[in-house]
Amino acid sequence: MAVTRINIEEENRRRRRINKIKKIIICLVIVCITVPTALSGLLMVKVVMLEKELEQLRAASAKTITAVNEQTGEPNVTDMIMGKEEPEQNGELYEVNDVDQAALDSEIVNNTDDGKRKVYLTFDDGPSDNTDAILDILAEYNVKATFFVVAKDDEESIRKYNRIVDEGHTLAMHSYTHVYNQIYADMDSYQKDVLSLQEFLEEKTGIKPVIYRFPGGSSNTVMNIDVQECIRFLESQGITYFDWNVSSGDATGNGYPASTIAENVISGTIRHDEAVVLLHDASNKDATVAALPIIIEKFLEMDDVSLLPLTEDSYPVQHTKKQ
Ligand SMILES: [Zn+2]
Repeated sequence: MAVTRINIEEENRRRRRINKIKKIIICLVIVCITVPTALSGLLMVKVVMLEKELEQLRAASAKTITAVNEQTGEPNVTDMIMGKEEPEQNGELYEVNDVDQAALDSEIVNNTDDGKRKVYLTFDDGPSDNTDAILDILAEYNVKATFFVVAKDDEESIRKYNRIVDEGHTLAMHSYTHVYNQIYADMDSYQKDVLSLQEFLEEKTGIKPVIYRFPGGSSNTVMNIDVQECIRFLESQGITYFDWNVSSGDATGNGYPASTIAENVISGTIRHDEAVVLLHDASNKDATVAALPIIIEKFLEMDDVSLLPLTEDSYPVQHTKKQ
């Protein structure tokens, strides 16, 4: 009898254990089914949202790139390289840091009053043998641009400064010497470089420029001085500085053809409501001159773009902000 009771109790315990295991298995099965189902649902929603976003981006870029390729007959080049501002004068070469494209892209501004994107074509390092050709093209299309110039005291250069002013473009300052290790040696040299150029241009044209671009950009890495001190100095003089958020790539030393320079500019400006485009007015940059009509014609075809010269009131695209 005792043996049988023990067997029954043993059997009951075994059943309870089995039932418990069954419950655990059922719970596990339910969890295994519901969690992946819920996650799949979430992922599906995410995929749909991303697909929509991708479609919008594709439509925007296809519209522009196709139009550029129609004109250039070139394959699509997506190799967008932000510019290295290349010192032209005196044959001195200093490496200038690459611009943080992601940071610039994240700075999407939207303060256009007429709903149009503003594109500012800017030319550094002139005057040069190409200045007249650039001005001829701008005149042909009745487009105004900005020239960040250096000091050149010959008769031809003085005529070119005046032509820039007379034809309604913005005459802006770049550097008196454009020799980096002199400009940025110490604050005295820096201030002297800026003020000498301002005085020189006022004397030659009657216009006192108040717009400035740091040689190498405000993000250059060759300065021996504190950029914030430079910025405070510029501000004390009523001078506004502009960097760029679109580079044509015409100074990267890769010898891009005109079609690539044009495509870099067009595709680069899509991301910005206020696009400041870096180009160069230099004797060895014929490709920039050849790219200019392609660039202008493309922008003129776009209903939502205004091509403008920089003014003190333009949105200040700056790599280094005042702290
Ligand atoms: Zn320069």
